[in-house]
Amino acid sequence: MQTQGYTYENLEQNIRWLKEKYPFIEVGIAGYSLLGRNLYIIKLGTGQNEVFYNAAHHALEWITTPVLMKFIEDFAEGYVTGKNLSRGYNPREIWESSTIYIMPMVNPDGVDLVINGLSEDNPYYNDLIKWNGGSTDFSTTWQANARGVDLNHNYNAGWEIYKEMEAEIGITGPGPTRYAGTAPESEPETKTVADFTRQHNFRLVLAYHAQGEVIYWNFMNLNPPDGEYIGRALSVASGYSLETATGPAAYSGYDDWFTKEFNRPGYTIEVGKGKNPLPVSQFGEIYEDNLEMLLLAAII
Ligand SMILES: [Zn+2]
Repeated sequence: MQTQGYTYENLEQNIRWLKEKYPFIEVGIAGYSLLGRNLYIIKLGTGQNEVFYNAAHHALEWITTPVLMKFIEDFAEGYVTGKNLSRGYNPREIWESSTIYIMPMVNPDGVDLVINGLSEDNPYYNDLIKWNGGSTDFSTTWQANARGVDLNHNYNAGWEIYKEMEAEIGITGPGPTRYAGTAPESEPETKTVADFTRQHNFRLVLAYHAQGEVIYWNFMNLNPPDGEYIGRALSVASGYSLETATGPAAYSGYDDWFTKEFNRPGYTIEVGKGKNPLPVSQFGEIYEDNLEMLLLAAII
């Protein structure tokens, strides 16, 4: 499993390899990014209890993609061998009772900018440099998609409230981070994620981000049924603390929207500790912290 700057190309190779080795894994494309990259969906299981895990809404947080890809590999391998994972989770039983949908890279255009740099044939070439404060180096700054929208502020959950905060936090338009766009779901990536979510009946969702070793839950004190109980269980499984977001971070994210729209719990999982992009050296520990949570969230 390659984790050194995990690119969209790595993701595609990895998906091909997994599909060859474990042909029972279902791979689909839920939609396309602004620049036309595939927004892949991997489906594990055949059970009634549907859950959805996604990663890399934010470009600098690409380390979250291989977390989910390694989970897919380990889960499929466990399904083949019948051996338990983590502390007594049986993948065959989970396969029967649940269906886990995984979108491992929500923002492939942003990840490409961060890892591969700005390509001359990028249709937003000049704008991107302007939006990035005049710099052609996106490797430590860029969280947004290819037109400077922060995808995790582009959902319809307190979006208008957040828009009013933009000026206060120094956001005036497209940029590396925290610009919410012109309307909720204005971006093809968020529209795809929201449509995919509306087409299913998810018990809960996990949105993977970095960093902080924190699980954020709840939206405007809605307290969806079981939200706190499940959050506490996920906290115990991972060792991450359970918190509610405050300030601008409390609005227009995917987990906020899921909670508001369906009155069911959505969680933002902030993996690792340090400055994004997190060093690859943290991958092993991050995966170890998250494996049980990923298993538990599918059955709780
Ligand atoms: Zn994030």
